[in-house]
Amino acid sequence: MPNYEIYALKYAGPFFSSGAFLMWLKDWEETVKRNYYIWCIKGSREVVVVDSGVSPELAREKNLTGYINPAEVLSRIDINADEVRHVILTHIHWDHANGVSLFPRATFYVQDEEYRFWLKDQIATRPPFKHVADEAANEYLSSLEGTDRLVLLKGDQEILPGIECLLAPGHTVALQAVAVNTAKGTAILGSDCAHVFRNYQEDWPSALIVDLVAWMKTYEKLRERASSLDLMFPGHDSLMSENYPQVAKDVTKLA
Ligand SMILES: [Zn+2]
Repeated sequence: MPNYEIYALKYAGPFFSSGAFLMWLKDWEETVKRNYYIWCIKGSREVVVVDSGVSPELAREKNLTGYINPAEVLSRIDINADEVRHVILTHIHWDHANGVSLFPRATFYVQDEEYRFWLKDQIATRPPFKHVADEAANEYLSSLEGTDRLVLLKGDQEILPGIECLLAPGHTVALQAVAVNTAKGTAILGSDCAHVFRNYQEDWPSALIVDLVAWMKTYEKLRERASSLDLMFPGHDSLMSENYPQVAKDVTKLA
């Protein structure tokens, strides 16, 4: 089984909010920070990017603090976004999926149920969902429907030896986490199954819950798969930039 290295690439932030955003209904009075990331899984031959970040157009529109084009951050570890072949989308929120067009040759892996929700379910057009949806991603992905550049996964599936997508609902209807074989064991890139490490440590979800029961089951499932708790990586924790070896500006090696 091949081993992979995992890198966290910060493309925007820091953003500040009440602690209740990162630890659901706790820490209202605290001000906490979070960053926006994509991740890169690097093997001896294969490169898999997890999430696509945000395009320069949307970053401008939203006036995103500390924004750097994710393609530029990737170039700092010698990865050319134009040539990336595999992009796993954990879920179709704008901060994770808006940048799909930065990867013109990639195959995108997304859960079928997630895709169907955002593209075909009327509920997704209602205000709380519209608030986090991304029209550009929806349009781009639907233009790929039926081609081999869009793979709609039905549940857990290995996409390359040692890299498995795991259905992990709760934050969205069909978010997927990624289990990765590393030198330290199986790591979990859980994206927004946890905004911060504390969510996993305290068995407590973050904000934007579509199904709390599913979310708690997701924690059980991911804990079972991870070789250790410190190999479970969240979606937005600034500690990913601060507590790991920096290999380039805004890029740290997680495992
Ligand atoms: Zn997010």
